[in-house]
Amino acid sequence: MKHFDFDVIVVGGGHAGTEAAYASARAGAATALVTLRRDAIGAMSCNPAIGGLGKGHLVREIDAMDGAMAQVADRSGIQFRLLNRRKGPAVQGPRAQIDRKLYRLAMQGLIGRIQGITVLEGEAEDFLFDGERVTGVALVDGSELRSPATVLTTGTFLRGTIRIGETAQSAGRVGENAAIKLAERMDALGLPLGRLKTGTPPRLDGRTIDWSNLESQPGDRDPVMFSFLSKAPVARQVSCSITHTNPRTHRIIEENLGRSAIYGGHFDSTGPRYCPSVEDKVVRFADKKSHQIFLEPEGLDDDTVYPNGISTSLPADVQERFVRTIKGLELARIIQPGYAIEYDYVDPRSLRSTLELRDTPGLFLAGQINGTTGYEEAGAQGLVAGLNAALKRRGRPPVTFPRSQSYIGVMIDDLVTRGVTEPYRMFTSRAEFRLALRADNADQRLTPLAREVGIVSEKRWRKYSEKAERLAVCHSLLGQYSLSSSQAANAGIRMGRDGTRRNGLELLAYPGVDIAFLSRIWSQLAVIDAGTAKQIEIEALYANYLKRQRKDAEALERDEALQIPDHIDYRMIGGLSGELTEKLLRIRPETLAQAARIEGMTPAALALILATVKRGGKRCAA
Ligand code: FAD
Repeated sequence: MKHFDFDVIVVGGGHAGTEAAYASARAGAATALVTLRRDAIGAMSCNPAIGGLGKGHLVREIDAMDGAMAQVADRSGIQFRLLNRRKGPAVQGPRAQIDRKLYRLAMQGLIGRIQGITVLEGEAEDFLFDGERVTGVALVDGSELRSPATVLTTGTFLRGTIRIGETAQSAGRVGENAAIKLAERMDALGLPLGRLKTGTPPRLDGRTIDWSNLESQPGDRDPVMFSFLSKAPVARQVSCSITHTNPRTHRIIEENLGRSAIYGGHFDSTGPRYCPSVEDKVVRFADKKSHQIFLEPEGLDDDTVYPNGISTSLPADVQERFVRTIKGLELARIIQPGYAIEYDYVDPRSLRSTLELRDTPGLFLAGQINGTTGYEEAGAQGLVAGLNAALKRRGRPPVTFPRSQSYIGVMIDDLVTRGVTEPYRMFTSRAEFRLALRADNADQRLTPLAREVGIVSEKRWRKYSEKAERLAVCHSLLGQYSLSSSQAANAGIRMGRDGTRRNGLELLAYPGVDIAFLSRIWSQLAVIDAGTAKQIEIEALYANYLKRQRKDAEALERDEALQIPDHIDYRMIGGLSGELTEKLLRIRPETLAQAARIEGMTPAALALILATVKRGGKRCAA
């Protein structure tokens, strides 16, 4: 039997796995990336797109910590759009249509180039143990990989079952085997497993689509990149097209609902509410006569088209019939039918905020296995798990992410305190401090932290420091100049003559005032470059709200800093209701802030917990 020793083992080369291995290697750990197929590293199982609302924020945060996803997406993006361009900067999300092959190759290149990652093709089927501690994995070929920290990122592969109509087939995603032995082993270990499902649309042959009468959707004229290091797209840019379902399409779907894997009663599990199948749309929105479909190219040298909006698990013959009722698709050939997939996930409430399992030390989980959906959610978790696995190996303190500082923190906190009832997806509405957590300032929020734990390259740090310097100079310049209210009103700024003097930063909060406007009053400001000006203007726009939110954020940070020791026994705290005690025992919050977010928590119960923590977690009198 062959044995190999590593600092960190990552199982799975999808979006969580690549990011985990990349973070772990950057943190200096000798990392094994073991995955079923080397050539599928970085494969996109579903839509060929990265980013979007909330998701784009996660990609920027990964980038701020020098992760892989943003750089790879920038290299393989074939259409860039900033979503919500007309709304406030806090809810704008960068998104790109991606060339699947370019993405995969760019990710494989990045993983191949970085020192410290050994890629191994193989299937993990069991864990190695020292008591309760996981010390590595056993592969199907009989070899053993040993390490004090293993990150499991097996996506939809655990006991994955693909369903198209009445047919079912065991698979991790189309064309790849499911991981059955590993799932059985996890079951035997008593890990809290559940089932979730998701689906994907049929893929069409673009040469059989009549594009001539379809509305075209080009990318932005001034593409916004994901990475703080990128300047412009690399690949040729293309347009998408838009078409719609119609009453004929809906009729065929309705008549065949009983044959759909989702509606035919073949699934018990829950699917993503925010990414519904076309069957779902027709049933839930019965009064709508039509639904939009984006026809998205899968690559520059690939004729495959991804019809975004008609994910389905109807039988292949029905898919063909309903697709051909749609404008432009009358003669469309289906290359690969749509399907639904059901898979095991682990209840994320069994995890710590580092993404290590609380009761199985040494084993970290990241990605779809934790009940999330989406590449971006998976990548962000991968970074957190890979980084913490490497820190653990080196005996250094873990890194956790407060809700008030990042979407990554919001997601992890949601997962570990609330768990999931359906595949979890990021939205800007999940972040209570979203005005502060913008895509444009992800580097200011996270790059210094990432630098502190040693995962930021010199190149990025230099760029970041230069930007920070420019912002500081700009702040100081704007602080130096001021106008009285009369002077401001005379200059054309809409404000009452209240006798107050306001400096440049304060004036930026007024409608119609930007740095170009102020430069006409104070020519010294003309040195401020466009990028710096934009960021300062955004901050000024939100300055008053942010000041008000800062108090709440500080209170939350104080509660987040208050750790609840693991050994605390809630049954011994007199005054807690039975229901709350049960929830606390199940969730075992790591901080007072997490305890506060438990459903049904009361100020009185929190005070009791706080008092117990202050007493060192000792028994409390009833
Ligand atoms: P994956 O990207 O699936 O990667 C898992 C990796 O683990 C693979 O490389 C695999 O080879 C490896 N692996 C598995 N088992 C083993 C083992 N035992 N040993 C070694 N390696 C192993 N997301 C959306 O946002 N919207 C959607 O509409 C959507 N629809 C989807 C539809 C389908 C059919 C599928 C399959 C996925 C869909 N997704 C969707 C989800 C998206 O693909 C995932 O969220 C994302 O890929 C998860 O990343 P991951 O790294 O967790 O897992």
